[in-house]
Amino acid sequence: MTSVPLDDLLRRNRDWAAAKLATDPGFFDRLARGQVPRALVIGCSDSRVPIDEVLGCGPGELFVHRNVANIVAYNDINIASVIEFATSVLHVPDVIVCGHYGCGGVREACTPQLHASYLGDWLMIAAWAKRAVDQRLAASGRSLDGEAYLRLVVEENVRLQLTHLSHLTVIRRQWERTPGLPRLHGWVYDLTTGLVRVLTDTA
Ligand SMILES: [Zn+2]
Repeated sequence: MTSVPLDDLLRRNRDWAAAKLATDPGFFDRLARGQVPRALVIGCSDSRVPIDEVLGCGPGELFVHRNVANIVAYNDINIASVIEFATSVLHVPDVIVCGHYGCGGVREACTPQLHASYLGDWLMIAAWAKRAVDQRLAASGRSLDGEAYLRLVVEENVRLQLTHLSHLTVIRRQWERTPGLPRLHGWVYDLTTGLVRVLTDTA
């Protein structure tokens, strides 16, 4: 059989499945019967932030939605349907927006002129976080640049997306049905330490 560029991934998959079965023969049978994830995580698509792995979770534990810069857009039927399924069908009690320091999407959103592209259009939403940080710094007479500045925008972007989340019909309807649930959380993952920092537990 000729080798194809992704052969090694398929080999790793077979090894992974065999290792799972070796330690837990009922693993796949159990997962095939259904899922009861404990949280919905909305994270960034960045390959360095595999959210299940950094939280030490295996298959079945987290319901996950990822996009560039962990954005919650008002007109995004994709994320709305993910949230609806997670909260109305799976009854997930917690929704986490998890950003990360060193986010290329947030860095791009901070450039003076976003490119005329689909990515540029998308990142316009995160650019509101930059404006909020700029206003706050100006009001306090402080100035920041480089990574310290970008870290503030990453954090503000998480808060902004939590606010968007709290405005979505799908969340407000759920709060009417089950007051207080889902709970909303804002986290940031630090690529340099591997640790998650809690920004806010309410929205
Ligand atoms: Zn990112």
